[in-house]
Amino acid sequence: MINVNENYLKLQAGYLFPEIGRRVRAFAAANPDAAIIKLGIGDVTEPLAPAVIEAMHNAVDEMSRAESFRGYDGDGVGYEFLRNAIVENDFRSRGVDLDISEVFASDGAKCDTGNFQEIFALGNIVAVTDPVYPVYVDTNVMAGRTGVGVGSGGYEGIVYMPCTAENGFVPDLPDQDVDMIYLCFPNNPTGAVATKEQLKKWVDYARRRKAIILFDAAYEAFISDADLPHSIYEIEGAKEVAVEFRSFSKTAGFTGVRFGYTVVPKELKAYNADGSVADVNALWNRRQCTKFNGVSYITQVGAAAVYSADGKRQIQQTIDLYMSNAAAMRNSLEKLGYTVYGGINAPYIWLRTPDGVDSWKFFDLLLEKANVVGTPGAGFGAAGEGYFRLSAFNDPKKVAEAMDRLAKI
Ligand SMILES: *Cc1c(COP(=O)(O)O)cnc(C)c1O
Repeated sequence: MINVNENYLKLQAGYLFPEIGRRVRAFAAANPDAAIIKLGIGDVTEPLAPAVIEAMHNAVDEMSRAESFRGYDGDGVGYEFLRNAIVENDFRSRGVDLDISEVFASDGAKCDTGNFQEIFALGNIVAVTDPVYPVYVDTNVMAGRTGVGVGSGGYEGIVYMPCTAENGFVPDLPDQDVDMIYLCFPNNPTGAVATKEQLKKWVDYARRRKAIILFDAAYEAFISDADLPHSIYEIEGAKEVAVEFRSFSKTAGFTGVRFGYTVVPKELKAYNADGSVADVNALWNRRQCTKFNGVSYITQVGAAAVYSADGKRQIQQTIDLYMSNAAAMRNSLEKLGYTVYGGINAPYIWLRTPDGVDSWKFFDLLLEKANVVGTPGAGFGAAGEGYFRLSAFNDPKKVAEAMDRLAKI
């Protein structure tokens, strides 16, 4: 008899985006003339940069000729030309020295943030922020590292670290021992970024407690404040305790192309049951070589073009467009009397719902009165109740229209 992995049965239904979709469809069916503006899901709207398109076209042509055709990418961790560009542009330029053997190319940060937990024991205690990107939690549930679900959308056995206006949306250190700490800065959904001093506290905690930090930097390209760290490795000692995940999805509009990478420093430590030190880089390499056969050559050539002079300029223009949307939204919402967070170093606005109205009620109100779709904070965790996320990924005209409509309700 074939039995299922019962850990999957603990998962609370992929509730948030399907529920948003259901409510939007029902509203659209009842109001066929409503021009709904979607500021909900975190997907980009601008096309790929011309430099990327040109490079990918050329790569397709290379694939069409026997002399330049490419099959498997060696051991599947990424071509050297791309990993060299990554190390040079994303790290050395910020004073962080990495070897390309510490960089693993992938088809996106969702897979990597979801898969990485696999190389750690099931007995580890997981800590996540609340609100949180659900992938970190659900993949640990599937693996069997948690108990059952509880009412508010959380799970027994996971340590939730509330992030609210009171702590500036950067979590305080837990007072119990935790082993696997998921952090995401700039943050989805709150738009907050941890300072170097704040990250230093986490790095020191992890070194003291022999824990690991799984650092998701998918939004680093949106940082505008020069003092903020783009990589956790800008913090002294971080290479001993942190993995870093990067994504081209929001940075370069690769949500439909698929490219990301994960940094696993050689110095990074985890421990065998007898207390001896294990080589995390080698374990991740083994995992990837066994279960993953690499990113397509065409995609890797496109990704490398992001680091060309034209590519850099073009993707910056797109980021500037999204961030000017964010600035316009902040400005309008503040004028309307909303308390607004984020939107300065991240493409998300995190607002407090007015008069303490619950976040799903606010969702319905915005949909019905302004035909604008956002994301209820409660969908990201219990501490997100009373907050609401608006995404800056949209056409500036639509953003302006959405703000006009909000002014009228
Ligand atoms: C969008 C997003 C990612 C990116 O995932 P990809 O698989 O690279 O598209 C990763 N982490 C967070 C928090 C995100 O919002």
